[in-house]
Amino acid sequence: MFFNKSEDPKNPVTPKKAHVLPLLPLRDIIVFPHMVVPLFVGREKSINALEEAMSHDKEILLAAQKRAKTNDPTAEDIFAMGTVGTIIQLLRLPDGTVKVLVEGKRRAVIKRFVPNEEFFLCEVEAVEEVIQASVELEALVRSVQSTFELYVKLNKRIAPETLMTVQTIEEAARLADTIVVHLSSIKLNDRQEILETTDPARRLERLFELMNAEIEILQVEKKIRSRVKKQMEKTQKEYYLNEQMQAIQKELGERDEFKTEIQELEEKIKTKKLSKEGSGRVKKELKKLKMMQPMSAEATVVRNYIDWVLGLPWYDVSEENYDLEAAEKILDEDHYGLKKVKERILEYLAVQALVRKLRGPVLCLVGPPGVGKTSLARSIARATGRKFVRLSLGGVRDEAEIRGHRRTYIGALPGRIIQSLRKVGANNPVFLLDEIDKMSSDFRGDPAAALLEVLDPEQNAGFNDHYLDLDYDLSDVMFITTANSLSGIPLPLQDRMEIIQLSGYTEFEKLNIAVKYLVPRQKEETGLKDVNLEITENALRTVIHHYTKESGVRSLEREIGSVCRKVAREVVKSGKDKPYRIAAKAIPKYLGVPKFRSSMIGEKDEIGLTNGLAYTTYGGTTLECEVTVVPGKGKIVITGLLEKGMQESAQAAMSYIRSRQRLLGLEDDFLSKVDVHVHFPEFVPKDGPSAGVTMATSMASALMKVPVHRTVAMTGEITLRGRVMPIGGLKEKMLAAHRAGITTVIIPKENRKDLREIPRRVLNAMRIVLVEHTDEVLREALCFSDPDAIFGRRTPPMEYRGGQLVVRGATVPEGEASEPGTTPAVVPAPTVEAPGAQQ
Ligand code: ADP
Repeated sequence: MFFNKSEDPKNPVTPKKAHVLPLLPLRDIIVFPHMVVPLFVGREKSINALEEAMSHDKEILLAAQKRAKTNDPTAEDIFAMGTVGTIIQLLRLPDGTVKVLVEGKRRAVIKRFVPNEEFFLCEVEAVEEVIQASVELEALVRSVQSTFELYVKLNKRIAPETLMTVQTIEEAARLADTIVVHLSSIKLNDRQEILETTDPARRLERLFELMNAEIEILQVEKKIRSRVKKQMEKTQKEYYLNEQMQAIQKELGERDEFKTEIQELEEKIKTKKLSKEGSGRVKKELKKLKMMQPMSAEATVVRNYIDWVLGLPWYDVSEENYDLEAAEKILDEDHYGLKKVKERILEYLAVQALVRKLRGPVLCLVGPPGVGKTSLARSIARATGRKFVRLSLGGVRDEAEIRGHRRTYIGALPGRIIQSLRKVGANNPVFLLDEIDKMSSDFRGDPAAALLEVLDPEQNAGFNDHYLDLDYDLSDVMFITTANSLSGIPLPLQDRMEIIQLSGYTEFEKLNIAVKYLVPRQKEETGLKDVNLEITENALRTVIHHYTKESGVRSLEREIGSVCRKVAREVVKSGKDKPYRIAAKAIPKYLGVPKFRSSMIGEKDEIGLTNGLAYTTYGGTTLECEVTVVPGKGKIVITGLLEKGMQESAQAAMSYIRSRQRLLGLEDDFLSKVDVHVHFPEFVPKDGPSAGVTMATSMASALMKVPVHRTVAMTGEITLRGRVMPIGGLKEKMLAAHRAGITTVIIPKENRKDLREIPRRVLNAMRIVLVEHTDEVLREALCFSDPDAIFGRRTPPMEYRGGQLVVRGATVPEGEASEPGTTPAVVPAPTVEAPGAQQ
């Protein structure tokens, strides 16, 4: 279908008649229909043309000059085709120029120029646009629209709203004219060409070509831009990071510091005497360190390692002293008594002095707390001129604590042996391994195994700590170990040690230690050295009896310290010059109410209550065993804080009683109606079986309703038939009985040989009955009015009375008594075998 544009109802009718219009020659711009554009006009002729238009219907022809530079164009210099526009606004500017806003209306051709001096005037003829609608045109419109969309995306200078407007235009001619305005990079001639293309389809096609060319350029441009940007970003990032790193390093001043640190280490490696292996290793590590970042975690690990190796006293020794006389003097100076112990120590030192090398076994001091084990070790250090270092093994359950962790673990450290050596700073100290019996082992490995290596003179010249991973020579270290009891020490370790037993002190010894050592030391520690302070012997005795209950003297020292501190307060108040005397009566004033009764024995003889004796790691102690008989069915109930094995002892005790029931006057079915309840109010330590005779005595007493002598204490294991078996720890038990105020102690006959070790004072103060059978125990312990009536006549058992051996009621000469353990001349007959012993 053909139609004339002028007939299009949307557009106002444009009469196809030539009419005369003033002309505005344009430089470098082509105005298209539908385009609103501001123009700055300076040339006089042009201003005149505008004024002419304003004075009529504001219509003016806008046509471009062929060359923008031409200042005073003639008719030939102007393109023949232009656009008729209307002036929307006209503004005169102060400098005489004019700003005008025009809107393009329609294409027009200059037919001829009308001669005029003041401005161009020409006769124009409107150009008709014929549109032939077709599918092709439709397709073209769409392609142009989508291409324009792409173009807008690439060309950021076009506002997105433009795209919206363009997409609503369906008319080919208008579409082309609208789009061409936005293609900023199209040359003037190309624009003019488009203006002159009157067929809208052709115009669109041409535009399509131009746009595609433009897009291609834009795409290449974009690629280049992004490449450049990336490059820029990379260099920028590197630059920024570098700057930052430099700033940090500067801040820490580390590079320089690091250099000096390395130099210092090099210097140290040169001057420090190390083992060959050690020296090689630190040099290697230092080389590694040099290549590391100073603040990195690895550098810290390497640095620590070097520090440890350099910090060890590889060949640093303190001068040893082998003067035995001086050593003896020092041991005596520091400790009261302990004659045998000191002798053993001096023998040990004598051997060292002769061989000049520690090859023998390690000393192990065994005894209850507070008997001076640690202080003896200190004295040995002082006597031999060695430094002293102490390591407590109590609670150590991990091999790594002895031997260290491998360096691969985070925060790994050498073991405690190496740590202690570094602390003491000498390679030949006295090294006290305290409480070796308190070590335990679990899944983390056995610390005792590591200790074996440490203590074995054959192996310890090349002790290998996991952290150092170097052989370290421990053979000059004098190891001394301590323990409270032998039973806690693994046998292989015991094998490598020379055991020296220390036992608890008697009251007499404690008193002497207090007077000679503890009081002067506490006086000095509390600043009372120059004060005339006397604590009387009676006062000290009171403290020993009523404020302490121990084998050693640790609490005693503490209590004396307490007294001294209180006195110090008084001295500050009342001055140094007056004498201070502390008598027994004043002690409660200083230490409060007494903590213990002097005698541990009860007020009166009781049924079913017997004093036993026990040996604990803290020394000996008395131990009460209570038995009551209650209605029941023959059960034996045993309660209290018990060790295993107690039940068996109780059963054995009961079996003995049943085997003797007729003798003891018990009915045949005496157990069928009763339960026997055995109770230990206090903790029963490891040697549970030695309470056997005690339980049997309490049971017999309760069943026979005969009280037990309260001044009697006993110890001994019992067999099913009532034989009394020997026990351990006799000395500690006797000391405990003595402390508790017991007057008669019943012990197994087989233990007679151990009496040799009991201090005379203790022996003299008590009656000691040596028994072989429980019948004898009952005879001694129970308050029978006529024991012969029950047990028959008998030969009196062997006993010590006032330190004298009495056999069959007669005192045996002195020589015998002083050598207990040898068979006496007259052997006491065994107890009368009572009827019913074997059933
Ligand atoms: P242990 O190591 O056996 O537990 P300590 O060596 O710590 O005991 O001794 C505790 C305190 O008792 C120390 O101050 C010590 O000097 C003192 N002491 C122990 N026995 C004696 C003694 N025989 N002579 C002098 N002081 C002693």
